Amino acid sequence: MRMISVDENEQDVEEVLKNGTEIAASDTSNAEGSVQLISTLVKRKRGKDDLCSELEDDGLPDNLEKIESCETDFAEEFTENDLSVVATLEKTLESPLSSFRPGYLWVSDLTRQNWCEQQLYYSFTVPGLVEEKPVMTEGTNLHLERVTSNEDIWGIKVLNLINSLQGFLNGGTVAREIPIFGAPFNEGVFIVGLIDELRFDPEMYLMELWELKTRKRKSMPSKAQCVQHRLQVMLYKKLFDDLVKGNLAKETVAKHLRLDLKKTFGDDVVKQVTINFLTSKDLSELMDVLFSKVQCLTCIQEIGVEYVHQDSKGTIGMCRESYSDEELEKLYKEYLKFWRGERCSTGVDIEDAWKCQSCDFADICDWRKKKAEEYSKKNIHPCD
Ligand code: SF4
Repeated sequence: MRMISVDENEQDVEEVLKNGTEIAASDTSNAEGSVQLISTLVKRKRGKDDLCSELEDDGLPDNLEKIESCETDFAEEFTENDLSVVATLEKTLESPLSSFRPGYLWVSDLTRQNWCEQQLYYSFTVPGLVEEKPVMTEGTNLHLERVTSNEDIWGIKVLNLINSLQGFLNGGTVAREIPIFGAPFNEGVFIVGLIDELRFDPEMYLMELWELKTRKRKSMPSKAQCVQHRLQVMLYKKLFDDLVKGNLAKETVAKHLRLDLKKTFGDDVVKQVTINFLTSKDLSELMDVLFSKVQCLTCIQEIGVEYVHQDSKGTIGMCRESYSDEELEKLYKEYLKFWRGERCSTGVDIEDAWKCQSCDFADICDWRKKKAEEYSKKNIHPCD
């Protein structure tokens, strides 16, 4: 039997119990049963472990038998189904999602995953080369210097989004650096991003989304980079359209971000809210404003990427991208299996082995070694 490894991680059992019950409670299909099961199992395991270690410490000759019997009783106490619920919880608690991105993923996490999932994994786990957390607040219109609570931080983000939308409702045609978030495809995972540019045609009632990419060389990017950029703009469109369609509830936002919707904003946020001619005193009210404004707009009809030369600032090229909801959903679900710990990370396929040449983790990459061995047996060079 595989036991919950909470104590092995030296985590405080109460904390794990709290996390576990929160995760289980979010599964509305079986919330009550899961919470009770986890609560019973964690407490029972603590009792069993205490007893076993006492028996071990005593060191009496027949204690080994007692320990075995104690373990067997514990294993027999829970059904296969119970254990599978707990195993899922255990995985969730130890998954890349909870370890590296508790709360939410960034759109950039998914585009990096698209480049090489193994590289993304190493960026979280290899000391010295660990990635920096993406910063969403960079470039936003309102600054967060004296904003301290999470509710205030998210209040400012929501306000920035409202400002962009209000600009369109007032006849504006362009908005830049627009915060965006949501929980696409009902997968229970929250995603956050920052749209580079929205262009709105009020007469035709058309909304376009453009991602601007600066390039050192005056040439178009590789196919692999274009694939990554397409994924990025597809995700932004999905998140934005979900808001327009009313597919995101404020309770979902609060649950994932662990926010108190009713917590009153601090003075600085209240000031910003007032400057924007609003009266919302908490996130619940501000999100109502957001939903009412965004639902007056339209879904995004066109997505694209504009490539700009770094030195001359001239446009190198513009790529309009196609959007496929089915394709995005399939890819997204596959990526989430990694984040949820349902499968191991994978590296690049042989046709993308050129990516390894400029990878910081090439020397230590197990995937690359494994593939190189496989191909050498077949007499194929990975870079061919
Ligand atoms: S060496 Fe290749 S497979 Fe390994 S992490 Fe880097 S890009 Fe991915």
